[in-house]
Amino acid sequence: MRVACYRALMAANFRAELVACLGQPVDENPTGAMQEAAFRAMGLNWRYLTIEVPPERLREAIVGVRAFGLRGINLTIPHKVAVMPYLDEIAPDAAVIGAVNTVRREGGRLIGENTDGKGFLRGVWVDAGVNPQGKCVVVLGAGGAARAIVTELALAGAAEIRVVNRSRERGEPMAAELAAKTGAKIGFQKWVGAYAVPRAAGILVNATSIGLYPHVEAMPPVDWTAAAPGLLVCDAVFNPPETRFLAEARRRGFPVLDGLSMLVYQGVIGFQLWTGMDPPEDVMKQALRSALAVR
Ligand code: NDP
Repeated sequence: MRVACYRALMAANFRAELVACLGQPVDENPTGAMQEAAFRAMGLNWRYLTIEVPPERLREAIVGVRAFGLRGINLTIPHKVAVMPYLDEIAPDAAVIGAVNTVRREGGRLIGENTDGKGFLRGVWVDAGVNPQGKCVVVLGAGGAARAIVTELALAGAAEIRVVNRSRERGEPMAAELAAKTGAKIGFQKWVGAYAVPRAAGILVNATSIGLYPHVEAMPPVDWTAAAPGLLVCDAVFNPPETRFLAEARRRGFPVLDGLSMLVYQGVIGFQLWTGMDPPEDVMKQALRSALAVR
């Protein structure tokens, strides 16, 4: 009996596998709650650490990631672009987007991925039941989230994507660059006053930060008069999940997709990249909802 216990102890593994989110500020990032809930639900001895890293320490932080043998990382503001030179390889779509939000380890190599746009697309398919292929899509905004969403929509075969942005300096070159890199039809329209949603649009996405906590009363100025009845209205803002924009769309009878969907699925894809396993998506969604409710 004593020998058996001793053998069991010898075989035990007290070392957890580690993944981490690096950013600044990062305190309010809820991703850890959702990933740790998935690790627990699957009985995995993995930990997700939320770590504040100032921009000038990012290079050292990635040296640390290699030294500690982290299985992967998430990058958030302000590291999504800055991290790229420190990685060994960039996945093709992340290279088109020009930003990395997830890193996976393959042997000793760190590979940069971008799961934001893929997470959005998965929500469109799974939660909204819509196939973007052949659809005309309007994306409001031209920041990091918009770039990722436009790129994945283009790669998924959207017929036409219209980028609508307040500043021409950011929106016009982005649309031209992504059109050249993906071969998709991507146009730009400067956002002046209320944007009139065209009848041809099948999907409308708010990829701006309008409506983000604490400015929850703000809403992207949109004229819905010509919008087709089946228009899928999506918001990248996840805090709060029910933005004024989505509430207004819902009130007008349009189907909607919230930013939690994108956040959960980008995390699901990250989990798959790190562990090679499929996480319990409902557990992750519930953990995220609880984490955001607490804030
Ligand atoms: P950026 O700062 O990179 O871009 C912000 C965009 O919003 C720009 O296009 C900016 O226009 C536009 N914008 C901001 N304020 C206004 C305004 N008052 N009127 C018109 N346009 C405005 O942010 P990100 O792209 O990183 O993030 C955008 C949103 O997406 C955030 O709410 C973020 O939380 C969310 N997000 C959600 C994710 C998810 O998983 N659900 C993942 C990543 C982001 P301009 O160029 O003219 O300044």
